[in-house]
Amino acid sequence: MTRYKGDKSAAASYTFDDGYPSSTTVAGIFESFGYRATFFIIPGAIGDTEWGTWKDLAARGHEIGNHSMTHTIDMGDPSVSDATLQTEINAAQDRIAQNLGIKPLSFAFPWHSYTARALSVAESRHYSVRKMSNGESNYQFAFFDQDHDASLSAALSTVNDQLRFVVDNGGWFVAGGHGVDGDGWSPVTSQFLRDHLTFAGQFSSRLWIDTYLNVARYRLCRPQVSVTATASSSTQATVSVGGSFNGELCTAPLTVSLPVKEAWSGNVAARYSDGSAVPVTRTSGKLYLDIRPGRTATVEISP
Ligand SMILES: [Zn+2]
Repeated sequence: MTRYKGDKSAAASYTFDDGYPSSTTVAGIFESFGYRATFFIIPGAIGDTEWGTWKDLAARGHEIGNHSMTHTIDMGDPSVSDATLQTEINAAQDRIAQNLGIKPLSFAFPWHSYTARALSVAESRHYSVRKMSNGESNYQFAFFDQDHDASLSAALSTVNDQLRFVVDNGGWFVAGGHGVDGDGWSPVTSQFLRDHLTFAGQFSSRLWIDTYLNVARYRLCRPQVSVTATASSSTQATVSVGGSFNGELCTAPLTVSLPVKEAWSGNVAARYSDGSAVPVTRTSGKLYLDIRPGRTATVEISP
């Protein structure tokens, strides 16, 4: 089981908070590079007619996460009641699920502010809570705004340096922004995003860029599963990804690497028992199979 999907050594996720109108511009820029982003929205501030925008972004592969019901409560304040935490965190999750048809599994606190009690409420129903630091030295939270540097160009060089550090150290880069092009709190520009994603492109062989949830899911599910590989002949093997994993969370494929002879250059195909194809990629000496937890793939190679 590789550290990150596709045997990449590092990961990057891009999150944009508060559901500003320019979120659709942000989404389009990420799509033009072949990537998807995460949008942490405030369900209590979304009108009945506005949910179509978020449904559309979700259908295009972006993640819609929970950023609290009203974004008016500082959940780092110990005097906030349990009932308020339930409304701001869990009722907000229900509201998004009802309107989107997809339960949000990631949460981000307004202003990155929370007590241990608020965090435990969020973690009781969300698998991943976005943090500015997660205790790992190779984790970097990058501010995509104009408030943490003297200028936008200084901010770009700061976040690019952070990404390079994460790639060099095998970690996880999580960007936090709002809107673009004059929209929202301390926005960056479309050009800033394009310049950064172009910079990120140089690391494509080592860097996995995906939504916050998809990276969090991989990190959480990888230790929950076990891989069993059995060769049934010199050209056929079965590979199972099993174990007692969380079935609600672990719904996306994990990458399994299989050794092959370095000089081998034959054909390879992998299928599930229902005949559907399992994605396979290869490098010299290794095959990589993206297999869903709970499933078994049959791999056939030509000699
Ligand atoms: Zn916010």
